Amino acid sequence: MVIERKTDDTEWSPPNLVDYETVHHGFVWPTPEETFGRRADAPGCFNIAYEAADRHVAAGEGDRIALRSLASESPATTLTYARLAEDSARFANALADLGVVPGDRVFTLLGRMPALYIAALGILKRGAVFSPLFSAFGPEPIKARMQIAEAKALVTTARFFERKVKPVLADLPSLRTVVLVGGGDGGVDFDVALAGQPTTCRIAPTRADDLAIIHFTSGTTGRPKGAMHVHGAAVAHKLTAAYALDLKPDDIFWCTADPGWVTGTSYGIIAPLLIGCTIVSDEEEFDAQRWYGNLERERVTVWYTAPTAVRMLMKAGDDLPQRYDLSRLRLIASVGEPLNPQAVIWGRDVLKRPIHDNWWQTETGGIMISNFLSMPIRPGSMGRPVPGIEAAVTKREASGAVSFVEMPDEQGELALKAGWPSMFIGYLNEEERYRKCFVDSWYLTGDLVRRDADGYYWFVGRADDVIKSAGHLIGPFEVESALLEHPAVAEAGVIGIPDPVAMEVVKAFVALRSGHTPDETLRKDLLAHARKRLGPAVAPRYIEFCHSLPKTRSGKVMRRLLKARELGLPEGDTSTLEVEK
Ligand code: ATP
Ligand code: MG
Repeated sequence: MVIERKTDDTEWSPPNLVDYETVHHGFVWPTPEETFGRRADAPGCFNIAYEAADRHVAAGEGDRIALRSLASESPATTLTYARLAEDSARFANALADLGVVPGDRVFTLLGRMPALYIAALGILKRGAVFSPLFSAFGPEPIKARMQIAEAKALVTTARFFERKVKPVLADLPSLRTVVLVGGGDGGVDFDVALAGQPTTCRIAPTRADDLAIIHFTSGTTGRPKGAMHVHGAAVAHKLTAAYALDLKPDDIFWCTADPGWVTGTSYGIIAPLLIGCTIVSDEEEFDAQRWYGNLERERVTVWYTAPTAVRMLMKAGDDLPQRYDLSRLRLIASVGEPLNPQAVIWGRDVLKRPIHDNWWQTETGGIMISNFLSMPIRPGSMGRPVPGIEAAVTKREASGAVSFVEMPDEQGELALKAGWPSMFIGYLNEEERYRKCFVDSWYLTGDLVRRDADGYYWFVGRADDVIKSAGHLIGPFEVESALLEHPAVAEAGVIGIPDPVAMEVVKAFVALRSGHTPDETLRKDLLAHARKRLGPAVAPRYIEFCHSLPKTRSGKVMRRLLKARELGLPEGDTSTLEVEK
């Protein structure tokens, strides 16, 4: 099935990427200077924060709105680009006074509040390394991450500091400075620190290849890794936002991811500011009515969200969005997990816009494969490589070399030709693990995919999650998508369990939509449905009903946990596990 975006969708200006083939074919990554222009104040230097705020001010665009920060208890806060440039300069000056030097690792543990955006840019202006923590983490995951990065400073609130940091403070000997947004005991008051500072600063003379950000992976497959990213990654952030999200300066852009995850920083903070558009952010958690309300009231034009959120909106019913005016919304995109075809089609039918899936990882720093606005969508496919990205389907040979799968639709590991600007430069303190990701100048992603004859990539599963049954390789995504087509199914997670004959057989864990009873009749009905859709070799042998699936806090199904529990094995690192209800 193919979804064409109709031409009457383009009452908007034409997409940034019109002719994919031509642009992709001849693409050479521009340098930072070619992408953003010269820096008169610091020739040869490059700093993400300058490009995100000060360049717009220098161009006379300081009055434009950079951020609309929503909260339920207080009115929305609006920050202009000028204000963001000034406050982040103040914060950079304050950090200098507090003894933070370039290269120091500065963490944030904050909700999605204006101070987070100011702190992020201020840290980068100081030449320090920004490392955002997800605010719902408890003391242990916070300690683990700050320890391996040898955090020198932390920006948080008194409440988080008291509950989450104090219990582990003795284990953080490198931590010298704590700044508390809203003030309180145990740290320097953020507002006070800013108050006496000049509104300009000498932005650190960082180079494009200097370390800027450390991002921890989601921990879906094991202990989270600290992926390191450089200032020059901004070239990829800007261009991928322009091509894959079609962002333009006039857009009002809402990325629902928390900046504790890479999506929330690369596209929740950096990319939209580089483009010069308005960011919408919401301090509150998911709520279907609130979200539709935000889209309507803020007149959001481009919305970047995740499959779990889409599935929750689907669960909330098809009538609800009809009560809101979503006509401003011209592009909906999704990332983080496979987006089931059903969800893409639901978007088209119910929200009146199909959902454009795209693929990337913490390690890649930016979007790598995408369903572009100018291209027909194939529901269930992640799309095609962004211009500048050479992707391949590969096999690892016993010798350690990689070979390329040329046959359409044959499965293999997704590999990317190394060298795009936002590629990670290492895993913090895990040199060996980093080196193992690269073979012959290809980065091996650990995800299994297939590519169809037209060059669209289809996600099969993480290499660790793929099920080997009676000689077949079964991707959990395919089985989960088939189960989701059944009207009773809200969520599905599929694993392989050992079987003496077939090696492994498929077991599905299924959470039901409200109004359905988990009984034998339904189980049989689901098994029959799956067999009809997938054939007996691929369909689940067993189905277990559950209330909900274990997920990371960024919303990814933790299949390894389903498996460990099923087999009675240790659960491994659960620091990113969403508290199960
Ligand atoms: P960890 O590496 O710690 O196990 P993680 O891989 O989930 O965690 P992230 O870097 O946040 O950490 O997520 C990247 C992964 O998410 C990809 O490798 C892929 O498995 C999955 N993913 C992201 N986008 C998509 C997508 N559009 N379709 C399918 N899978 C996706
Ligand atoms: Mg990963």
